[in-house]
Amino acid sequence: MTVGSSPQGKLRPGPSRRNHSFIVLHLVLQGMVYTEYTWELFGYCQELEFSLYYLLLPYLLLIVNLVSFTLTCVTNPGIITKANELLFLHVYEFDEVMFLKNVRCSTCDLRKPARSKHCSVCNWCVHRFDHHCVWVNNCIGAWNIRYFLIYLLTLTASAATVAIVSTAFLAHLVVMSDLYQETYIDDFGHLHIVIML
Ligand SMILES: [Zn+2]
Ligand SMILES: [Zn+2]
Repeated sequence: MTVGSSPQGKLRPGPSRRNHSFIVLHLVLQGMVYTEYTWELFGYCQELEFSLYYLLLPYLLLIVNLVSFTLTCVTNPGIITKANELLFLHVYEFDEVMFLKNVRCSTCDLRKPARSKHCSVCNWCVHRFDHHCVWVNNCIGAWNIRYFLIYLLTLTASAATVAIVSTAFLAHLVVMSDLYQETYIDDFGHLHIVIML
C-alpha cells in the first residue's frame, strides 16, 4: 500500500492505487505499431517510388501525440488543497441538486466545489473532474483536459493516417506490380481476369 502525495509534495493520508503499468503498455503498443509501420513501408518505398512525404505524416502526429500524452500524465489535473479550496469554491455555482453548498469530502476534509469529485484511485479531490484515466495514470480535470483532448485527437488521427497510408501503399504496390492485369483459370478451365475493387 502506498501513500499519495499532495501538489505541495506533502504526504496525504490514505492509499493511492495509481500505477504505471498502462503507461508502459501504451508505449509498448505504440512502439510496436510504429516499428511495424516503419519496417513494412520504408523498406519498399524507394523501390516502389512511393513519396516519402506521405509516409512522414504519421510521425508528425506521433510527436504531437507523445507531447500531449506526457503533459496529460504530469500536469496537475486541478487537485483541491487547503490553499486553493476557496478559489475553486467560487468558479462554478452550486445547483443544489447535484452539487450542494457546504458539503465536505469525507476523505480530504475539504469543502467540495461545484463540479469537483473525489478520485478513489488517486485519493484526492479534483476540480471539474472528468474521469480517472489508467492509460495516463492521472485524473482528467480542469487543468489537463486540453492536453487529453489533443492526445485523443492525435491518437485517432495517427491511427487513421497509418491506415490510409498503408492502403495507398498497397494500392500503389498493386499498380506497380501489374497485379490488376493478372488472370486465373477456374475449375472448369475458363480464363478470368482478376478484378481489383
Ligand atoms: Zn476528496
Ligand atoms: Zn485519479
